[in-house]
Amino acid sequence: MTETVTRPSSCPQCGHKFNRAAGAFSDHVPQEGDISLCIRCGCAMIFRADLTVRAATEAELDALPAEVKDQMVRLYQAICAVRSKMN
Ligand SMILES: [Zn+2]
Repeated sequence: MTETVTRPSSCPQCGHKFNRAAGAFSDHVPQEGDISLCIRCGCAMIFRADLTVRAATEAELDALPAEVKDQMVRLYQAICAVRSKMN
């Protein structure tokens, strides 16, 4: 898993601040328009050109390929499992 240092950004849903991103299923380096999930709350986010993030829209989520939707569900479930162990 390759970790990329990004500009400081925060989750639009929970406010979690971060400055790194990593591909969960590959060594992909984030680019404008890529989707990501907040490691804290699982919010779906889209990278801007400067690698800060904004909330993904319903239309953007609907347009994702089935394979990516499946990966997002698996990652979201993993985030929820870790979060439940921390509470
Ligand atoms: Zn969040």
